[in-house]
Amino acid sequence: MQGNAITDLYLPPVTHSLEEVLQMPALSQRCSFSATLTYVKPEIQSNLPRQKELLLYVTDTSLQLAAETSRNPRVLKVCVLPSCALDRTLQEIFSKKIPCNIFFKDAVHENSGIICLERTVLSLQKPLLSCTSGTSERTGPVRLDGLDSSTEANTICTVKGLVVGVNESESYSWPVCNLCGSSKLQPLTQKSCPYHCCQCTSDISSPVIRMQLEVFLQCEARPQCKVRLKLREETISSLLGSCSSEDGRYERSAVLGKELGPVHCYVLCAANSLSLEEIRLLQAG
Ligand SMILES: [Zn+2]
Repeated sequence: MQGNAITDLYLPPVTHSLEEVLQMPALSQRCSFSATLTYVKPEIQSNLPRQKELLLYVTDTSLQLAAETSRNPRVLKVCVLPSCALDRTLQEIFSKKIPCNIFFKDAVHENSGIICLERTVLSLQKPLLSCTSGTSERTGPVRLDGLDSSTEANTICTVKGLVVGVNESESYSWPVCNLCGSSKLQPLTQKSCPYHCCQCTSDISSPVIRMQLEVFLQCEARPQCKVRLKLREETISSLLGSCSSEDGRYERSAVLGKELGPVHCYVLCAANSLSLEEIRLLQAG
């Protein structure tokens, strides 16, 4: 009869929507839910054991379709502690940043947020091939919260604003090898082949110019705040348009006064000044 007793004690997990999970009192309760992965931080490698916590940014239709007046976030941060074992497939998906739906069984709802630790089980919900970007056909692309006075560090949001300055010390360009992508280039004296790549030992006739640009934004959502934003190269190119020369040089005036966004961002710091970095949400393909 002991076998029966054990069976009676086991309660199968009740699956909740993320909205319901957020309504539960945060008293270290176990909760189970399924959600769409939209972003992973930091980058991990699938073949290395995880030493640090992993942040998964997830959402579902209950958050995406909530009324504008809802106090819930559009996307929820889930912290996966190293003690939560991840199977190979998931670890690979996180390292390759493949969008997918995940079932979280027995995660813990704490005051600080949702945590995955020992005995929390993460599993892939659908075969990889059928995974699509976004939450569902009903909601279209994933919506994030806009930057506002409640924005906290280590969250993701959208930002838009007017470029009012360039952070010169964090803005520069450098040539990389057009064959292997290495930045270990040695200048040559020949005009036709200006560099030699130390990585693939080729003479490079047309190096690729990589750019980094960090701007200061004036945002309506945080008028009193200095907002610093590190841009992705695609955005830099579209911002500069035809204003940058072949070697990556550009005039500050080409950037200043331009409207930027909305772009997706990761919030690095949200104290006196806001420090953001533009991100790309997980996308199929
Ligand atoms: Zn090379």
